[in-house]
Amino acid sequence: MFGTYRINERKDAFPRLSMKFKKGEINFYTCSIKLIEGNVNAAYDWESDVMSESWNAKKAEKKLKALKNTKVCDALLNQEIFSGVGNIIKNEVLFRVKIDPESLVGALPLKKLKELVKEAHDYSWDFYAWKKKFELKKHWLIYKKTECPRCHFPSIKTYLGKTNRLTSFCANCQKLYS
Ligand SMILES: [Zn+2]
Repeated sequence: MFGTYRINERKDAFPRLSMKFKKGEINFYTCSIKLIEGNVNAAYDWESDVMSESWNAKKAEKKLKALKNTKVCDALLNQEIFSGVGNIIKNEVLFRVKIDPESLVGALPLKKLKELVKEAHDYSWDFYAWKKKFELKKHWLIYKKTECPRCHFPSIKTYLGKTNRLTSFCANCQKLYS
């Protein structure tokens, strides 16, 4: 996940990882930490990293198909499948592909499943580009919004899934597959 980091500064939150050096420090927040020993390429699956040149959409589809009874809101946050996808991306991707976050992976038609995988990758790159320009928030369409920009229905804001993360969606145009 992208999370946030501070160099020689601290946020008003407890860092997931803090590294102190003689001449400074770096602190990482809201990120996923995995300790890897030995050769990083042997231990880390670059093919599940949405930001990697080795990203393998087919492999992600295959892993998803094995998670029939998992809700899509949880599947998107599964770092073994979509390494790099965080909670904001989850919300925006589901909005783009018009899938209700509580839909079951196994109930998605193949076309929708492929769309989901493609957008998880594409949106992550858009997210990165916007983040570098410090204009991330203005591109949010559904995350923390009170109204759906597509159909102007009031949006739903709640905590969903086993991951229990903040989820915003439109119950009118995001279809529930169950
Ligand atoms: Zn809508």
